[in-house]
Amino acid sequence: MDKQEAEYIAGKVLDKHVLEYHKTSKKRFKPPTLEEVELYLKENPELKGVTARDFWKGYDDGGWVDTQGNPVRNWRLKLRTRCNYGHTSEVSVADHKCSRSFCTEDAVHSGVDDTNQKYYLCETHKPKGKL
Ligand SMILES: [Zn+2]
Repeated sequence: MDKQEAEYIAGKVLDKHVLEYHKTSKKRFKPPTLEEVELYLKENPELKGVTARDFWKGYDDGGWVDTQGNPVRNWRLKLRTRCNYGHTSEVSVADHKCSRSFCTEDAVHSGVDDTNQKYYLCETHKPKGKL
C-alpha cells in the first residue's frame, strides 16, 4: 500500500472518481494524455487553480514520478491534491491590488489564468459563485 492509498483508506480522500479509479488501477500505470486531464478538469469544475497543460506537462517532463520519486499511479488524485493546495495557497492576496485595469482595491482572491499568469481580484471583481 502506498501513501496515497493509505490516505484514501483513512478517509482523507472521499471522491467517487478516485474510488472508481482505485478499483481499476491494479493494472500498470498508463500516463494520461493532455486531453484526458483537460476532460477531467472540465467534468470537475470545482477543481481550480491548476491548468491541465501545466499539470500534465510538469509530470510528463518528470516521467510521471512524484516529488518523492515514486511513480504517479493515480494522476486524478494528484490533480485533486494540487487543486486543494491551490485553495490554501501561501500567497497572501492581501499584499496585492486587484488586477483589473483602473481598479485600486485590495485583492481578496487570486487565481491563474489560461496563460498561467497569476491574477488578483478585489471583493467587487472576484468570481461570484461557481465559475
Ligand atoms: Zn477590482
